[in-house]
Amino acid sequence: MRQIKRLLPRKTSRLTDAVFRDLVRTAYRTIPYYQRTWTRSGLKLAEISSVKDIHRLPLVTKDDLLARGHSDRLHQGKSAKRQVYRVTSGMTGANFIIFMSKLELAFRQFSLVYRMWHDAGYPYPMTLVQAGSWFPLESKISLNSRRMPIGRVIHISRRQPIAEQIRALDVANPTVLTGCPSMLEILVRALQQTPGVTIRPKLVVTRGEVLRPFTRTLLSKTFACPVTNYYSTEEIGLIAWQCPSTPSVMHVNRDTCLLEILDEGEEACAPGQEGDVVVTNLFNHTMPLLRYVLGDRSVLLPEAPSTCHCRPALQSIRAPFGRSEDFIQLSDGTRVSPRILDDLVHDASAAQGMDHPFFQSVRDYQVIQESPTNLRILYLTDHALPDFVSDQFQLGLRVVHPDLRCEVQSVSALIPEKSGKRKRIISHLGAACSPSIGTGEKQSACLDAE
Ligand SMILES: [Zn+2]
Repeated sequence: MRQIKRLLPRKTSRLTDAVFRDLVRTAYRTIPYYQRTWTRSGLKLAEISSVKDIHRLPLVTKDDLLARGHSDRLHQGKSAKRQVYRVTSGMTGANFIIFMSKLELAFRQFSLVYRMWHDAGYPYPMTLVQAGSWFPLESKISLNSRRMPIGRVIHISRRQPIAEQIRALDVANPTVLTGCPSMLEILVRALQQTPGVTIRPKLVVTRGEVLRPFTRTLLSKTFACPVTNYYSTEEIGLIAWQCPSTPSVMHVNRDTCLLEILDEGEEACAPGQEGDVVVTNLFNHTMPLLRYVLGDRSVLLPEAPSTCHCRPALQSIRAPFGRSEDFIQLSDGTRVSPRILDDLVHDASAAQGMDHPFFQSVRDYQVIQESPTNLRILYLTDHALPDFVSDQFQLGLRVVHPDLRCEVQSVSALIPEKSGKRKRIISHLGAACSPSIGTGEKQSACLDAE
């Protein structure tokens, strides 16, 4: 019965309290990491009776959980070999394995696929195509198709030659196309060079990376359909989805997780104040994550905007701005959000009109921090850089910080990560900010539907 409660898709606040209480007790009884750290911190289980007591639990990071191997964070009554798992990477580059039971994985997949089905207008049958899927190197599989009650899920491997990926996409004829923005962009560029292939899904869903305005425009033009963005991670699955009527807002998936936004003193941020995203997984008892610091930054909104017609009492946040390590750190301690850089790119184009041929040709951009105050902005385009772009950027940067300077360039390729994903902000200041850190192969950064 306890298991059924935590795997129910619509939880009332009373049920959420009961599920949370049960999760805390399971973690304390069965997980060595929590037994040890909670005992050390003097936590008394009797003090945790509902979600409002969550602040009494200590925060936990990926590196804390990695320190003593996976048996330290796994339910003592369960064998790692019998669980399914997903992999993400730690700050040190070490792989972080998230274990769960098959039933827990099924719930997580249901939550994601149901949301896509809802956002696409309940098409039947639905063909859900996952682009840029990860398959092991030794795998001979290039395409993986599975049936589900409302249609089928097809995975296209990113290890296949791009022409084969396009062919598979054409044959699959997706109702919903999903993937990381950078993987979808690779497909779009290949599609633009493949005459005769037109892909027309009902909906494109991006997840696994921050969706930048350039990419959203590119995807919506190419596929001629709405583009929506989900906040999902390997640790939780679907954390939040874009409000259908208010794209600047995301609603938190309270059926799978609790979300907090905390300041540097580990206190709850006031609505509107930016902070670190901390999540509690409500359905995974195999490897519980309670008050887990994700490393993303976002803002809690005081209430849903009047344009939102979703079910009431949904918690609302701004779309995450990126990971903490994506922030540009200046020598006086100022941290510049990647969102500010997005705004500068947008301002530079808006000042001249988005229809200017240069901005029409831009496919992406990257920011390299070469010294504490010098940035290099790389625009991915075949077009020559007009002078006004650089002038506009210099002006904008000085408003952000008077010491900031930049050099702007047009380039034909950006700097990739090992995983094939692209890091937006690259800092050359010290190893802690090196682009090679924390960018190991991310098995299924955007592959929840596997
Ligand atoms: Zn809404």
